[in-house]
Formats: sequence, C-alpha cells, structure tokens
Amino acid sequence: MAHVRLNGLSKSYGKVDVIKDVSLDIEDGEFVVLIGPSGCGKSTLLRMIAGLESISAGTLEIGGAAMNDVPPRDRGISMVFQSYALYPHMSSADNMSFSLRLAGEEEAQRRSKVDRAADILGLGPYLDRLPRQLSGGQRQRVAMGRAIVRKPEVFLFDEPLSNLDAKLRVKMRAELKELHQKLRTTTIYVTHDQVEAMTLADRIVVLRDGEIEQIGTPQEIYSRPINPFVADFIGTMNFLAGIAGGQDKVRVGDIELATSNGLDDIQEDDAITVCIRPEDVATRGVTPDTENAVPTVIETLEFLGSFYRASLAVQDAGETTIRADFSINLVRDLDIKEGQEFTVALPSDHIRVYGEIFTHADDLI
Ligand code: ADP
Ligand code: MG
Repeated sequence: MAHVRLNGLSKSYGKVDVIKDVSLDIEDGEFVVLIGPSGCGKSTLLRMIAGLESISAGTLEIGGAAMNDVPPRDRGISMVFQSYALYPHMSSADNMSFSLRLAGEEEAQRRSKVDRAADILGLGPYLDRLPRQLSGGQRQRVAMGRAIVRKPEVFLFDEPLSNLDAKLRVKMRAELKELHQKLRTTTIYVTHDQVEAMTLADRIVVLRDGEIEQIGTPQEIYSRPINPFVADFIGTMNFLAGIAGGQDKVRVGDIELATSNGLDDIQEDDAITVCIRPEDVATRGVTPDTENAVPTVIETLEFLGSFYRASLAVQDAGETTIRADFSINLVRDLDIKEGQEFTVALPSDHIRVYGEIFTHADDLI
C-alpha cells in the first residue's frame, strides 16, 4: 500500500488546459472517488497517475517516490477500465495470470496468486471458462482479478461498472466495497455516478473543467456543498432565486426566509441562490406561524415506493417550484392530493445560501 500525492498537476493538449493545477493527498489505504461531468478530465487525471499520459506540470508521488518519469509498469499500480478487454481465446485463469507470465513468474507462484484472487472474487468455479462463457459481471470480476494478482500498491478504476446493467452494477458496487475492506489497497476510482461515489468513497473529489471544486467525505459533500455546482451534482437539490435581506434574511419573491448558513460574504440586495434538499422541507405540523412557512399548491405527487416526491408551486414567488418529500403516512393521514393547497416550511438551519445565481443544467434545455 502507498499514499499518493498530486502536487499542482496540470495537463495541456496544445493550447487546451485539460487538468489545471490539481493538488491532492491520498492516504495509505484510502478509497478516493473522482467525480464530475463528462469531459471534466477524470480519465485524463487517472491516466496521468497511471503513467499513460505525460504530466505537463507538477509532480506525482506514489509511496513517497517521484513518479513523473517512471514507466507505468514500475509505478506499482493496477488499472481497471470500463471496457475490460479480456483476451477472448484465454481462460479466466490465463487472463488473470497473463501479466505475471510476462513478468517471468513461475507456474506455481502464478497459480497461487490466481487462486487467491479467484477466492476473493468468488471466481473459483469459472477459472477454466473462456470470456464468452461468462456473464458480464463475471467478466468484470476477471478484469478485477487481473488487477489483484499483481498485488499493486494502488488500484486505479475508470468507470469499471458503466457497462453493466443497473442491477448488476449495484451488486458489483457492494463487491468492490468488500474487496477494499479485505485488501485495504489505496484506491482511486473514477465515476460520474453519484451513488457509486457516495457509497464507495472515504473521500470524494468533485472535478469541474479540470479543477477541483471540493474535497470531502460523502457526508460533508452532501450536507455542506461548497457551491451550487456541487450541490447540483451530488443528490437532489432545490434552487430558488432570491435576494439577500439584512440580518440573516433572504427574500424569494414576496416570501421572507430566515437562514443560519452562508450569508457571511453576501451584501444586502445581492442576487442569491437559496438551496434546500427535498427531504429537509418540513411537511408535518406546519402552520402559517411556523418559521419560514411557505404556502404552496401541490402540482404533482409521485409515488416512489418508500415515500412521495411532491412538486409544489410556491404561491407568493412567481414560477418557483419546490420539490419536497412526503412520507407515506402523511399522505394517507391527511389524504393529500394533487391540486390541494399545502403549507410547508424551509427550516432555517437546512437552508443554504450562495452568493451567485445558479441555472440548473436542465433548465437550459
Ligand atoms: P472525463 O473522463 O471526465 O469524461 P477526459 O479526461 O476523457 O474526461 O477528457 C477531458 C478533456 O480532455 C475533454 O475535453 C477531452 O476532449 C480532452 N482530451 C482528452 N484526451 C485528449 C487528447 N488526446 N487530445 C486532446 N484533447 C483531449
Ligand atoms: Mg472518462
């Protein structure tokens, strides 16, 4: 195992800067997830760590040693890609031991390493099968086995589950987590899937246009996103356009809201964005006198199995809508229906205010 240190890493293709001054310290044994929209530079950064792309500026260390000029095979890393590209004419065992054979390892040693990896991944019964005789999940497991047998200091994964169907992805996600708990190998994992990031990561790194927006535990990123971009990318968020008032107050249309988060650097009358997550909207026991009560009309009420997601038209704020989660019990107890008036509250400690106007990507379509 090894720690990985990225110090001011940059990558340019001609005049285009794809990775811009990225610094990141990854602890020994840590599982770090790089997440961001398509094209933000996730794969490029991972390939720079692997040695598959050159580094334009900055330094990379693995286990305390400078790596900028070390070839990929000597970096102590194993990489698993989205397309796992197994050799079609080789058995699972041979696919897994191929790199060991290239490195000149003896048959007995190769066999024991493959058996150990097969054991970890539950591939024992499939070692003699060809890739075409395996399911998608089993093939991906062979690709992981190929990475494990080399006993790397660092695992690099580039969207390894993207080619699997939804059910299998959930299963493999759990297996990856188990694998990390067993091996404790330092892992850098690229995805654009927020659920993968939340469930797998010790820390999440949110990237945008080749730069780090925020680094934090899943809990930190979810509950204290540093800006609307991060808030939008992880989880579901309501964005309400408003104006800053004085004294910890904001206005959304004709509604005045008290808030305890985020007004420090904002001047009165500045345009702001008010954020609150659907599950944080208070729905039970709200009266017009409740703090930050907001009268609405229920536009839609979607049944999502364990709760309802309501879309609420805010009455005194133009076109503003708020998504809010209603419990099954609440909907049943109050016989809530679409078209009804309903007052919710936006608890002041759950509101976050950002001093910028944010347009949700979907709203631009
Ligand atoms: P991601 O993995 O986050 O989707 P990539 O790292 O693949 O993003 O790409 C980041 C950016 O770098 C993209 O804008 C892409 O077009 C650009 N890029 C990647 N590889 C090259 C290359 N070989 N030459 C020029 N531009 C590239
Ligand atoms: Mg990519």
